[in-house]
Amino acid sequence: MLQDRFGRTIDYLRLSVTDRCDLRCSYCLPARFKGFEEPAHWLSFAEIRRVVAAFAALGVRRVRLTGGEPLLRKDLPQLAASLSALGLDDLSLSTNATQLLRFAPALKQAGVTRVNVSLDSLDRACLAGITGRDAHTAIFAGIMAAKAAELTPLKLNMVAMRGVNEQDIIPMAEFAMQHSFILRLIEAMPMGASGRNTAFLDLGPVREMLVQRFALQPEVIELGGGPARYWKTPDGLGRIGFITPMSQHFCASCNRVRLTVDGTLHLCLGQEHSVALRPLLRQGISDEALQQVIREAIELKPERHEFNEAPQKIIRFMSQTGG
Ligand code: SAM
Repeated sequence: MLQDRFGRTIDYLRLSVTDRCDLRCSYCLPARFKGFEEPAHWLSFAEIRRVVAAFAALGVRRVRLTGGEPLLRKDLPQLAASLSALGLDDLSLSTNATQLLRFAPALKQAGVTRVNVSLDSLDRACLAGITGRDAHTAIFAGIMAAKAAELTPLKLNMVAMRGVNEQDIIPMAEFAMQHSFILRLIEAMPMGASGRNTAFLDLGPVREMLVQRFALQPEVIELGGGPARYWKTPDGLGRIGFITPMSQHFCASCNRVRLTVDGTLHLCLGQEHSVALRPLLRQGISDEALQQVIREAIELKPERHEFNEAPQKIIRFMSQTGG
């Protein structure tokens, strides 16, 4: 089992399979971003599988494929199938859903258990304003395809922004409840210039408003072992999660690390501590030595992010690290 210096068990890996995206969400990736990783630096599927196998041998049972937009990586279901063959407990995917109509059945067949979809508004114009593209039709077709393929429980991730999509929070909650999706509201983090320039909305008062509106009660069980704190409707069928890295951080229970497409292992979203695995993989490191490097890397995991104290610190964008 992987344990860091602060006694936290690390049992969850976020795996970014590309830093490319077909959307340009205002808080995530600048419209004219030029700093994409060159293909020669992308880990191959075989390299990714080796790293995931090493993590699995060290007790990591849950992996999430992310990006950029993971469905832009060619043959992603093939990679999913090879990772799922490692016998993980949970193989999930974060996506913007623009390609889900095409891929949902193949992902299910490949062993992907569930998907999280980023959706910041139901309103076409508002959504296009945030994503930089009118992809409303493809996104909603993709979401329904995922529901039909039973990539569930399907979570909708909504970055809540003051003066941008606040008015969509209640319609999003109703939409989620109508389809048995779980809505998760997320506070924007100052990652890269895009994140820093986002109008921050404190989710504390939003939660109070939603508790009143839907008579929500706190959920006792944890869903998915992630950072969200869940509240449920009295009949137990509707759920809303709150991810509050800024107003109430959850670093003490952080259980994850992130691998980027270029093979860099990031120990914290809000710090620079990292270890480059690609050179080691390409120099022919053994499985045992790779596991030892990962154990030592976990020792570097910092206690907490410093987004509030040092909001200018993280220059990489979320799309580069993998959200
Ligand atoms: N393309 C996929 C998607 O849309 O879900 C996966 C990558 S995206 C970077 C993963 C998640 O990061 C999304 O839910 C997105 O909303 C979130 N995200 C990106 N930038 C963020 C920021 N500055 N603060 C908080 N969340 C952010």
